[in-house]
Amino acid sequence: MLPAEPVLEEQLAATPGEWGVRPVVRALQESARAQGLWNLFLPGGEHSTDNPAAGNGGAGLTNLQYAPVAEVTGWSPRLAPAAFNCAAPDTGNMEVLNDFGTPEQKEQWLQPLLEARIRSSFCMTEPDVASSDATNIGTRIRRDGDHYVVSGRKWWSTGAMNPDAAIFIVMGKTDPDAARHRQQSMILVPRDTPGVRIVRPLTVFGYDDRDHGGHAEIAFDEVRVPAANLIAGEGDGFSIAQARLGPGRIHHCMRALGMGERALALMTERARTREAFGRSLAEQGVVREWVAEARIQLESLRLLVLKTAWLMDTVGNKHAMTEIQAIKIAVPRAVQQIIDRAIQVHGGAGVSSDTPLAELYAGVRSLRIADGPDEVHLAGLGRAQLRT
Ligand SMILES: Cc1cc2nc3c(=O)[nH]c(=O)nc-3n(C[C@H](O)[C@H](O)[C@H](O)COP(=O)(O)OP(=O)(O)OC[C@H]3O[C@@H](n4cnc5c(N)ncnc54)[C@H](O)[C@@H]3O)c2cc1C
Repeated sequence: MLPAEPVLEEQLAATPGEWGVRPVVRALQESARAQGLWNLFLPGGEHSTDNPAAGNGGAGLTNLQYAPVAEVTGWSPRLAPAAFNCAAPDTGNMEVLNDFGTPEQKEQWLQPLLEARIRSSFCMTEPDVASSDATNIGTRIRRDGDHYVVSGRKWWSTGAMNPDAAIFIVMGKTDPDAARHRQQSMILVPRDTPGVRIVRPLTVFGYDDRDHGGHAEIAFDEVRVPAANLIAGEGDGFSIAQARLGPGRIHHCMRALGMGERALALMTERARTREAFGRSLAEQGVVREWVAEARIQLESLRLLVLKTAWLMDTVGNKHAMTEIQAIKIAVPRAVQQIIDRAIQVHGGAGVSSDTPLAELYAGVRSLRIADGPDEVHLAGLGRAQLRT
């Protein structure tokens, strides 16, 4: 993956303003698929005959087995997850379709996603309401005969700028008068449905994430889709969102550890080879402390991530919620600090685009907001701890 990074940069520079997967990623996908390194995130698969999901196109790894693989892909987060068809948001969307989709929905949307023939987006967050509280969501999904009509506005729909993102999973309210967590539903909205309008791309600290399809603001204006596009039943949206975001969070944390390892490797190399005031940076006490602290943070957080993966495998995602919340808070926070210190050791080069550090920083910083801000997870974890 690492030698492919400059190739990706060249291809991006040669195609300004274009959204979506570049040829270098397609070539890596072909090679990964030929080697059976494909859909590694998805449990089930032909090799796991004791698993009810066997044969679903997944690689059949447990979370515990997938964790170290995902960590390695974090070394090159723009290339490696996509190369193995293990990149968000497609992974979470495939899990939703795998776990809750009808046979027809699986045939139409899951299969092409598993084969990377199309991409997808997950549309929950809205500009007009505090979306960390998903019960605030204002988008309406109204039944009209054998159709549903979707109206609302979403943003931060990752991947949606990519024209290959053919399907959007949209969360909205089917019954605003139902109990608080039964008002929401999820529905499949094909990108080309009349009334779907991509308003604009958003950037993360100025990065547009063009090769992954960016992050879009999308207007849904009286969008009519067949009633069969509803995922599971009316009122199931909130619990599907919870089910979707659990594995997603641990995947992010696994990859973030790889980002931290790469930053530490770059910090170490730079400290060894750069001299200031008559000695190498590696001989400065403060740099040694940063390197030592990074090693402690990564080793201890890796153990917590592995414990969480093991719990998800053995007692289920629901009973691993406390640990999922703990790693979602602790890993991005620590890795952000490690990358920040690696930037500092690089001086001016650290904030430039000559090293991957600035982009890694932007990625891990946004992880402290995406899939629920730190404070929301801290509040949940604190509540659970106080109940014990
Ligand atoms: C790079 C990136 C990718 C994303 N991808 C997607 C995607 O694909 N699909 C999608 O639907 N969304 C996506 N999001 C959106 C993300 O999930 C939301 O931004 C997040 O859930 C927070 O919602 P909000 O922005 O409305 O913040 P708000 O809900 O307005 O919260 C703002 C702040 O209020 C504080 N706060 C909130 N609740 C509490 C509390 N209980 N206690 C203390 N403080 C609190 C927190 O500091 C929080 O950061 C993405 C975001 C980013 C940055």
